[in-house]
Parts: sequence; structure tokens; C-alpha cells
Amino acid sequence: MPLKTLAEYETLAAQAHGHLCAGQILGLRLAIHGVQLLGIDDPAGKDRKRLVTYVEIDRCATDAITVVTGCRLGKRALKFRDFGKVAATFCDLASDRAVRVLARDSSKQLAREMYPEIADKNQQQMRAYRELPEADLFDHQWVRVTIGPEDLPGYKAGRVTCEACGESISFRREVARDGRTLCRACAGERYYEPL
Ligand SMILES: [Zn+2]
Ligand SMILES: [Zn+2]
Repeated sequence: MPLKTLAEYETLAAQAHGHLCAGQILGLRLAIHGVQLLGIDDPAGKDRKRLVTYVEIDRCATDAITVVTGCRLGKRALKFRDFGKVAATFCDLASDRAVRVLARDSSKQLAREMYPEIADKNQQQMRAYRELPEADLFDHQWVRVTIGPEDLPGYKAGRVTCEACGESISFRREVARDGRTLCRACAGERYYEPL
């Protein structure tokens, strides 16, 4: 199943995300642009083991990016870096190349200029984001991403136990602290407070 048409992806994205919106269309086109720059034509099918994607925002576009790439958190092929930017980096493990694609801020203004008669901003942007050329929607740069073996899909290693809380830790996420092996939570990264 090689790359689908935008319309086909829109149907899939609406199912995955619960609605179709401008952010979804932007995310679909961003991901299509990324995999095409890499020359990957069947990301969710025969090329599925080649691709690892880093996304920099957790919004509508993120779900759309997973629809095109097939990269999912549960397959370890989707990495989230919370930078608050509508950007993603597509890494081709087969050719050891990576390209970062960033949505341009100017696309909203372009949508206003293209379809001033459409009052609804979402509708206006959806229409424009379908039609604008990639160069108007995105910037891209070739980058190097060093992915450690413990971050790749399929990595296997034994689990270790946190010496403070006793919970198991996979994928070498343990931290050495004052001669003890700790989980990240016990090492100070806890995002919750036990009640
Ligand atoms: Zn949305
Ligand atoms: Zn712990």
C-alpha cells in the first residue's frame, strides 16, 4: 500500500482523531512531504521498519503524522519531544538520513489571502492547506539524528529494579545516583506526588 491520496488520508485521519480539522490536513501534508523527501513510498507497509519519527507537538497534527507514517508510540517508532512546534523529523534507518520539516507560521496568513470569503477559520485553512504548494507550507532541513540502540524498535534487554521504589525499568532508562540504581521518578523526574 504505497502513499495514498490526500483525500484517502483525510478519511483515515478523521477516524483516528475523531474529526477532520486544519491541523490534521497540515499534519498529513507535513508527513507526506517528509517521507517523500526521504524517498520512502510505502511508510506504513513494506517500508515500515525503515522509519522513526520525532514529533515536536502534541496536537491535531500529531495524530495525522502517525496516520501517514504508521509510526506509533507502542511500536517505539514514534518519539515525542515536547518543543511546542509544529515540526517533525523523519529518520530513514535504511539510508541513515533524516529530514526535519517545520510548518511555516505564514500559512495562516496565506489561507486568509486565498479565501477571504470563507469566514470560518478552520474551513478557510483546511481548503488552503489542501491546495498550497509544499514550499508555502513548510521549511525543511536535512539533519543527523543519533538514535541509540535502546531507542530503536525491537531493542531487547533485561529489566532492572529501582533500588528506591522497587519498580521494574526497561530499555536502560535507569539512572545511577550515588552508587544506587534508580528509576527516573526516584531520581527526581517524578511528575506525580504520591498521596
Ligand atoms: Zn483536530
Ligand atoms: Zn523508583
